[in-house]
Amino acid sequence: MTLTHSPRKVAYITGGAQGIGRGISDHLLANGWQVMVVDIDHEAGEQYLADQCKAQQEDSNTRLSFQTVDVCDESAVAASIAQTVEVFGRLDAVINNAAIANPFQGALESLSLDSWHRVLDTSLTSSFLTAKHAARHLREHGGSIINMASSRALQSEPDSEAYAASKGGIVALTHAMAMSLGPEIRVNAVSPGWIDVSDWQKTAQPETLSAQDHAQHPVGRVGHVEDIAALVAFLISDKAGFITGQNHVVDGGMTRKMIYQE
Ligand code: NAD
Repeated sequence: MTLTHSPRKVAYITGGAQGIGRGISDHLLANGWQVMVVDIDHEAGEQYLADQCKAQQEDSNTRLSFQTVDVCDESAVAASIAQTVEVFGRLDAVINNAAIANPFQGALESLSLDSWHRVLDTSLTSSFLTAKHAARHLREHGGSIINMASSRALQSEPDSEAYAASKGGIVALTHAMAMSLGPEIRVNAVSPGWIDVSDWQKTAQPETLSAQDHAQHPVGRVGHVEDIAALVAFLISDKAGFITGQNHVVDGGMTRKMIYQE
Protein backbone atom coordinates (compact mmCIF):
# COMPACT_ATOMS: atom_id res chain seq x y z
CA MET A 1 0.00 0.00 0.00
CA THR A 2 2.85 2.40 0.71
CA LEU A 3 5.50 3.72 -1.64
CA THR A 4 7.80 6.31 -0.13
CA HIS A 5 9.78 8.91 -2.06
CA SER A 6 8.63 7.54 -5.39
CA PRO A 7 9.07 9.77 -8.43
CA ARG A 8 5.48 9.01 -9.45
CA LYS A 9 3.16 11.99 -9.10
CA VAL A 10 0.65 12.06 -6.25
CA ALA A 11 -2.95 13.29 -6.31
CA TYR A 12 -5.22 13.93 -3.30
CA ILE A 13 -8.90 13.56 -4.29
CA THR A 14 -11.75 14.53 -1.97
CA GLY A 15 -15.03 12.65 -2.30
CA GLY A 16 -13.17 10.12 -4.45
CA ALA A 17 -14.79 6.92 -3.23
CA GLN A 18 -17.71 7.22 -5.64
CA GLY A 19 -18.94 9.08 -8.68
CA ILE A 20 -16.81 11.53 -10.63
CA GLY A 21 -14.04 11.49 -7.99
CA ARG A 22 -13.65 7.74 -8.31
CA GLY A 23 -13.57 8.10 -12.10
CA ILE A 24 -10.79 10.68 -11.80
CA SER A 25 -8.89 8.38 -9.44
CA ASP A 26 -9.20 5.42 -11.86
CA HIS A 27 -8.01 7.59 -14.74
CA LEU A 28 -4.99 8.88 -12.84
CA LEU A 29 -4.06 5.41 -11.59
CA ALA A 30 -4.22 4.11 -15.16
CA ASN A 31 -1.83 6.90 -16.12
CA GLY A 32 0.78 6.09 -13.50
CA TRP A 33 -0.24 8.44 -10.68
CA GLN A 34 -0.40 7.57 -7.00
CA VAL A 35 -3.71 8.57 -5.45
CA MET A 36 -4.95 9.36 -1.94
CA VAL A 37 -8.73 9.24 -1.89
CA VAL A 38 -10.50 10.82 1.08
CA ASP A 39 -14.22 10.49 1.59
CA ILE A 40 -16.70 10.67 4.47
CA ASP A 41 -18.23 7.38 3.29
CA HIS A 42 -15.94 4.74 4.84
CA GLU A 43 -17.82 1.81 3.30
CA ALA A 44 -17.57 3.26 -0.21
CA GLY A 45 -13.83 3.84 0.23
CA GLU A 46 -13.17 0.31 1.46
CA GLN A 47 -15.22 -1.06 -1.41
CA TYR A 48 -13.21 1.01 -3.89
CA LEU A 49 -9.94 -0.38 -2.48
CA ALA A 50 -11.33 -3.94 -2.65
CA ASP A 51 -12.50 -3.43 -6.25
CA GLN A 52 -9.07 -2.17 -7.27
CA CYS A 53 -7.43 -5.24 -5.71
CA LYS A 54 -9.86 -7.57 -7.49
CA ALA A 55 -9.31 -5.87 -10.81
CA GLN A 56 -5.57 -6.50 -10.38
CA GLN A 57 -4.81 -3.55 -12.60
CA GLU A 58 -1.03 -4.05 -12.65
CA ASP A 59 0.19 -2.42 -9.46
CA SER A 60 -2.50 0.24 -9.30
CA ASN A 61 -3.95 -1.12 -6.06
CA THR A 62 -0.59 -0.47 -4.40
CA ARG A 63 -0.69 3.12 -5.62
CA LEU A 64 -4.13 3.82 -4.14
CA SER A 65 -4.75 4.72 -0.54
CA PHE A 66 -7.96 5.70 1.25
CA GLN A 67 -8.75 7.70 4.39
CA THR A 68 -12.12 8.37 5.95
CA VAL A 69 -12.25 12.15 6.29
CA ASP A 70 -14.96 14.77 6.68
CA VAL A 71 -13.65 17.59 4.49
CA CYS A 72 -15.55 20.15 6.60
CA ASP A 73 -13.25 19.37 9.56
CA GLU A 74 -10.06 21.47 9.30
CA SER A 75 -7.93 19.36 11.63
CA ALA A 76 -8.95 16.16 9.82
CA VAL A 77 -8.11 17.74 6.44
CA ALA A 78 -4.73 18.98 7.70
CA ALA A 79 -3.90 15.55 9.16
CA SER A 80 -4.92 13.68 6.00
CA ILE A 81 -2.77 15.91 3.78
CA ALA A 82 0.20 15.42 6.12
CA GLN A 83 -0.47 11.68 6.02
CA THR A 84 -0.58 11.72 2.21
CA VAL A 85 2.88 13.28 2.04
CA GLU A 86 4.12 10.80 4.62
CA VAL A 87 2.72 7.81 2.71
CA PHE A 88 3.68 8.83 -0.82
CA GLY A 89 6.57 11.23 -0.21
CA ARG A 90 5.18 14.18 -2.19
CA LEU A 91 2.03 15.94 -3.35
CA ASP A 92 1.45 17.18 -6.91
CA ALA A 93 -2.30 17.72 -7.29
CA VAL A 94 -5.33 18.38 -5.11
CA ILE A 95 -8.74 17.67 -6.62
CA ASN A 96 -11.51 19.26 -4.57
CA ASN A 97 -14.42 17.13 -5.70
CA ALA A 98 -16.43 16.37 -2.51
CA ALA A 99 -19.90 17.89 -2.35
CA ILE A 100 -23.44 17.20 -1.34
CA ALA A 101 -24.15 16.47 -4.95
CA ASN A 102 -27.93 16.95 -4.80
CA PRO A 103 -28.59 20.58 -5.81
CA PHE A 104 -32.12 20.52 -4.43
CA GLN A 105 -32.06 21.10 -0.67
CA GLY A 106 -35.58 22.54 -0.44
CA ALA A 107 -37.48 25.73 -1.13
CA LEU A 108 -35.68 28.97 -0.24
CA GLU A 109 -38.25 29.99 2.35
CA SER A 110 -37.95 26.71 4.25
CA LEU A 111 -34.24 26.04 3.76
CA SER A 112 -32.60 25.71 7.16
CA LEU A 113 -29.41 27.59 7.97
CA ASP A 114 -27.82 24.24 8.88
CA SER A 115 -28.53 22.86 5.40
CA TRP A 116 -27.18 26.04 3.81
CA HIS A 117 -23.96 25.79 5.84
CA ARG A 118 -23.54 22.07 5.21
CA VAL A 119 -23.76 22.52 1.44
CA LEU A 120 -21.34 25.47 1.40
CA ASP A 121 -18.93 23.86 3.86
CA THR A 122 -18.75 20.55 2.01
CA SER A 123 -17.93 22.05 -1.38
CA LEU A 124 -16.66 25.62 -0.99
CA THR A 125 -15.09 25.83 2.47
CA SER A 126 -13.42 22.45 2.06
CA SER A 127 -11.71 23.69 -1.12
CA PHE A 128 -10.22 26.55 0.89
CA LEU A 129 -9.14 24.15 3.68
CA THR A 130 -7.32 21.69 1.42
CA ALA A 131 -5.55 24.51 -0.43
CA LYS A 132 -4.51 26.13 2.85
CA HIS A 133 -2.90 22.93 4.11
CA ALA A 134 -1.60 21.55 0.80
CA ALA A 135 -0.04 24.71 -0.68
CA ARG A 136 3.40 24.34 0.88
CA HIS A 137 3.67 20.74 -0.40
CA LEU A 138 2.34 21.59 -3.88
CA ARG A 139 4.84 24.44 -4.21
CA GLU A 140 7.78 22.02 -3.92
CA HIS A 141 7.11 20.41 -7.31
CA GLY A 142 5.03 23.02 -9.13
CA GLY A 143 1.67 21.45 -8.34
CA SER A 144 -1.90 22.12 -9.32
CA ILE A 145 -5.38 22.41 -7.78
CA ILE A 146 -8.68 21.50 -9.41
CA ASN A 147 -11.90 22.75 -7.83
CA MET A 148 -15.06 20.96 -8.96
CA ALA A 149 -17.71 23.57 -9.68
CA SER A 150 -20.82 23.00 -11.84
CA SER A 151 -22.71 24.47 -14.76
CA ARG A 152 -25.09 25.49 -11.94
CA ALA A 153 -22.53 28.20 -11.11
CA LEU A 154 -23.79 29.81 -14.33
CA GLN A 155 -27.48 28.88 -14.59
CA SER A 156 -30.18 27.57 -12.25
CA GLU A 157 -33.39 25.72 -11.60
CA PRO A 158 -35.59 26.69 -8.63
CA ASP A 159 -34.74 25.52 -5.09
CA SER A 160 -31.01 25.18 -5.63
CA GLU A 161 -29.70 28.33 -3.89
CA ALA A 162 -27.11 26.76 -1.56
CA TYR A 163 -25.66 24.50 -4.25
CA ALA A 164 -25.54 27.29 -6.86
CA ALA A 165 -23.92 29.67 -4.36
CA SER A 166 -21.33 27.08 -3.37
CA LYS A 167 -20.40 26.44 -7.01
CA GLY A 168 -20.38 30.13 -7.95
CA GLY A 169 -18.13 30.67 -4.93
CA ILE A 170 -15.81 27.96 -6.19
CA VAL A 171 -15.37 29.72 -9.54
CA ALA A 172 -14.40 32.94 -7.71
CA LEU A 173 -12.24 31.09 -5.18
CA THR A 174 -10.41 29.50 -8.11
CA HIS A 175 -9.28 32.75 -9.73
CA ALA A 176 -8.43 34.27 -6.34
CA MET A 177 -6.29 31.25 -5.39
CA ALA A 178 -4.64 31.25 -8.82
CA MET A 179 -3.43 34.80 -8.14
CA SER A 180 -2.27 34.02 -4.59
CA LEU A 181 -0.59 30.68 -5.24
CA GLY A 182 1.03 31.32 -8.62
CA PRO A 183 3.44 31.06 -10.27
CA GLU A 184 4.33 27.76 -8.60
CA ILE A 185 0.78 26.43 -8.24
CA ARG A 186 -1.88 26.54 -10.96
CA VAL A 187 -5.56 26.51 -9.93
CA ASN A 188 -8.47 25.68 -12.23
CA ALA A 189 -12.17 24.96 -11.84
CA VAL A 190 -14.07 22.32 -13.81
CA SER A 191 -17.81 22.78 -14.24
CA PRO A 192 -19.57 19.59 -15.26
CA GLY A 193 -23.05 19.63 -16.71
CA TRP A 194 -25.19 16.50 -16.47
CA ILE A 195 -22.84 13.57 -15.85
CA ASP A 196 -24.23 10.04 -15.49
CA VAL A 197 -22.56 8.66 -12.35
CA SER A 198 -24.97 5.76 -11.83
CA ASP A 199 -22.32 3.10 -12.56
CA TRP A 200 -19.84 4.73 -10.18
CA GLN A 201 -21.76 4.49 -6.92
CA LYS A 202 -21.19 2.21 -3.90
CA THR A 203 -24.60 0.72 -4.42
CA ALA A 204 -25.89 0.33 -7.94
CA GLN A 205 -28.18 3.21 -8.74
CA PRO A 206 -29.54 2.28 -12.14
CA GLU A 207 -30.65 5.40 -13.92
CA THR A 208 -32.59 5.05 -17.11
CA LEU A 209 -31.80 7.93 -19.37
CA SER A 210 -34.38 8.73 -22.01
CA ALA A 211 -33.71 9.50 -25.66
CA GLN A 212 -34.74 13.07 -24.86
CA ASP A 213 -32.23 13.30 -22.01
CA HIS A 214 -29.49 12.66 -24.55
CA ALA A 215 -30.97 14.52 -27.52
CA GLN A 216 -31.42 17.82 -25.68
CA HIS A 217 -27.64 18.13 -25.43
CA PRO A 218 -26.01 19.80 -28.45
CA VAL A 219 -23.50 16.91 -28.56
CA GLY A 220 -26.36 14.38 -28.51
CA ARG A 221 -25.65 12.67 -25.20
CA VAL A 222 -25.47 13.00 -21.43
CA GLY A 223 -21.91 13.26 -20.03
CA HIS A 224 -19.70 10.38 -18.90
CA VAL A 225 -17.42 10.39 -15.85
CA GLU A 226 -14.51 9.93 -18.28
CA ASP A 227 -15.34 13.27 -19.93
CA ILE A 228 -14.45 14.98 -16.65
CA ALA A 229 -11.54 12.70 -15.70
CA ALA A 230 -9.76 13.27 -19.01
CA LEU A 231 -9.95 17.05 -18.64
CA VAL A 232 -8.77 16.96 -15.02
CA ALA A 233 -5.81 14.79 -16.02
CA PHE A 234 -4.88 17.29 -18.74
CA LEU A 235 -5.25 20.32 -16.46
CA ILE A 236 -2.95 18.86 -13.79
CA SER A 237 -0.37 17.81 -16.39
CA ASP A 238 2.64 19.86 -17.49
CA LYS A 239 0.91 20.28 -20.88
CA ALA A 240 -1.50 22.75 -19.22
CA GLY A 241 1.28 24.95 -17.84
CA PHE A 242 -0.20 28.15 -19.36
CA ILE A 243 -3.72 27.59 -17.96
CA THR A 244 -4.69 28.92 -14.55
CA GLY A 245 -7.57 30.72 -12.83
CA GLN A 246 -10.11 29.46 -15.38
CA ASN A 247 -13.46 27.73 -15.13
CA HIS A 248 -13.72 24.94 -17.72
CA VAL A 249 -17.32 24.03 -18.58
CA VAL A 250 -17.89 20.41 -19.67
CA ASP A 251 -21.61 20.20 -20.41
CA GLY A 252 -22.13 18.97 -23.96
CA GLY A 253 -22.95 22.54 -24.98
CA MET A 254 -25.97 23.00 -22.69
CA THR A 255 -24.94 26.40 -21.28
CA ARG A 256 -24.47 27.68 -24.86
CA LYS A 257 -27.91 26.52 -26.03
CA MET A 258 -30.57 29.15 -26.61
CA ILE A 259 -34.04 27.92 -25.66
CA TYR A 260 -37.22 29.52 -27.02
CA GLN A 261 -40.74 28.32 -26.30
CA GLU A 262 -42.28 26.77 -29.41
P1 NAD B 1 -21.25 11.67 -5.64
O1 NAD B 1 -22.29 11.89 -4.59
O2 NAD B 1 -21.28 10.44 -6.46
O3 NAD B 1 -19.81 11.79 -5.00
C1 NAD B 1 -19.54 12.76 -4.00
C2 NAD B 1 -18.65 12.12 -2.96
O4 NAD B 1 -18.38 13.11 -1.96
C3 NAD B 1 -19.34 10.94 -2.24
O5 NAD B 1 -18.51 9.81 -2.25
C4 NAD B 1 -19.55 11.46 -0.82
O6 NAD B 1 -19.48 10.46 0.18
C5 NAD B 1 -18.42 12.48 -0.70
N1 NAD B 1 -18.65 13.45 0.37
C6 NAD B 1 -19.81 14.11 0.67
N2 NAD B 1 -19.65 14.87 1.77
C7 NAD B 1 -18.37 14.70 2.18
C8 NAD B 1 -17.61 15.21 3.27
N3 NAD B 1 -18.14 16.07 4.16
N4 NAD B 1 -16.31 14.81 3.39
C9 NAD B 1 -15.77 13.95 2.51
N5 NAD B 1 -16.43 13.42 1.46
C10 NAD B 1 -17.73 13.80 1.29
O7 NAD B 1 -21.34 12.96 -6.59
P2 NAD B 1 -20.82 13.22 -8.08
O8 NAD B 1 -22.01 13.34 -8.96
O9 NAD B 1 -19.73 12.28 -8.44
O10 NAD B 1 -20.22 14.70 -7.92
C11 NAD B 1 -18.84 14.93 -7.75
C12 NAD B 1 -18.58 16.43 -7.90
O11 NAD B 1 -19.00 16.88 -9.20
C13 NAD B 1 -19.35 17.29 -6.89
O12 NAD B 1 -18.57 18.41 -6.54
C14 NAD B 1 -20.56 17.73 -7.67
O13 NAD B 1 -21.13 18.91 -7.16
C15 NAD B 1 -19.95 17.93 -9.05
N6 NAD B 1 -20.92 17.88 -10.15
C16 NAD B 1 -21.54 16.71 -10.48
C17 NAD B 1 -22.44 16.70 -11.56
C18 NAD B 1 -23.14 15.44 -12.01
O14 NAD B 1 -23.99 15.53 -12.92
N7 NAD B 1 -22.84 14.28 -11.45
C19 NAD B 1 -22.71 17.88 -12.25
C20 NAD B 1 -22.06 19.06 -11.86
C21 NAD B 1 -21.16 19.04 -10.80
